[in-house]
Amino acid sequence: MRGIVWLALDGVGHPQDAPPGSVWEQELPALRPLVDAGLALDATLGVPGLPQSGTGQACWLTGTDAVNLMGEHFGPQPGPTLQRLLSAQSLPVRLARAGGRAALANHYVPAYFQAAFQAAGGRNRMGCFPFSFRAAGLPLNPPGVPLVGATLGLGYARPWPQEGSPEHWERLGAALADAVAGHDLITADLWFGDLLGHAGAHPVPPDALTAGRAYLRRVDALLAGLLDAGARVVVSSDHGNLEDLGVKGHTRARVPFAGSGVNLGAPANVVEAGQVLAGWFGLP
Ligand SMILES: [Zn+2]
Repeated sequence: MRGIVWLALDGVGHPQDAPPGSVWEQELPALRPLVDAGLALDATLGVPGLPQSGTGQACWLTGTDAVNLMGEHFGPQPGPTLQRLLSAQSLPVRLARAGGRAALANHYVPAYFQAAFQAAGGRNRMGCFPFSFRAAGLPLNPPGVPLVGATLGLGYARPWPQEGSPEHWERLGAALADAVAGHDLITADLWFGDLLGHAGAHPVPPDALTAGRAYLRRVDALLAGLLDAGARVVVSSDHGNLEDLGVKGHTRARVPFAGSGVNLGAPANVVEAGQVLAGWFGLP
């Protein structure tokens, strides 16, 4: 079977729940039609407070209500309880156990490994995605997989200069489509959208809006490369943030669940969507 490429956006709420003038208001010829044809899912799970990446991503990865397990929205990194859940039943772990091939396509720089593994007080600094792939016995920066820099070529810090051309990301999408022929699942943990979302303020900072829009155009280019090459693709997000740059923090916006060549089913929230994902691989 042809594998699936999972573009896991971080902190990008659905356009239907975005205020006027948001990052979604621009030409996104691949991303926008896909998202509009997909679903808008609840990420709050009926729990007060703002959804967070630790619990949100754990819901997607395990199909379990990680917010209920924690009793609150928790993150950004998984603590001991979520780590146990991810080690036991995250999608990469279940896939590896079933003999499937999975890879995390993120490009991690040396500074990341220093930060992740020299954690103060032993606290885990790895997000749910790298944690889960490592729990499955899989390497970060896997050989033979085209690696995706999570800023998608934007500078890491304000004013987030735009480096390289969008065409580069389209070619990378095509290369990922090639690579997934030898895999069941290739995931890209696209966390930079959340970082840009935290630059939100009232009134909306023009430089953050410019960077947020440039970032989504690069997601669009990556997706265009994948779709043009005929790849099966799914796009998700863990919680809202970037879609409303009028606030600094996360939002309770619904999140996109969209795909090409996959059956999205009818999930209402991120937990049920995590179950749909596992079902594509024949996993319980
Ligand atoms: Zn955040």
